[in-house]
Amino acid sequence: MEDILERVPFYLTILSTICGGVTVALLGGIAIWTFRDIRARSRDILTHILATLLVIVMPVIGLVVYLMLRPRETLSDAYERSLEQEALLQAIEEPEICPGCGQRVRGEYLYCPACHTRLKRSCPECNHPLHLNWTLCPYCGASVTPQALEPVPAAIQEVASAEDTAPDT
Ligand SMILES: [Zn+2]
Ligand SMILES: [Zn+2]
Repeated sequence: MEDILERVPFYLTILSTICGGVTVALLGGIAIWTFRDIRARSRDILTHILATLLVIVMPVIGLVVYLMLRPRETLSDAYERSLEQEALLQAIEEPEICPGCGQRVRGEYLYCPACHTRLKRSCPECNHPLHLNWTLCPYCGASVTPQALEPVPAAIQEVASAEDTAPDT
């Protein structure tokens, strides 16, 4: 019995060493996780250091504060979003697909030469082709009322079929 009592300080030392080790490992893990996380969300080195220090100095509260304050979007998310926006802008310029027949049509076509579907209308001010649902001309700023798809007048249908036989430029 005395033998065990003598060994108590020894066990306590081992126990505190284990507890200390686990705490250090956890702290290190949290710090590394935070550093990686903030690096994915910000390019600012000062922000990286401050965020990592925050969770090291106040292990639990710091992490909660960090999770509340960190930038919502990661850098790769922001990059993807900018790519999407670019693709959207390009779609305005690029050849388009006719919703009526699936043929590729040029962006400036007002009517599909194959099936006579109305694709665009021209701006009343500057005559640039506008999407039917646009409410403002992006070329001259004239406000226009969006139009629903409407049947093609016969006269324009003839023009459209004439364009159909014309060589593609
Ligand atoms: Zn068509
Ligand atoms: Zn215009």
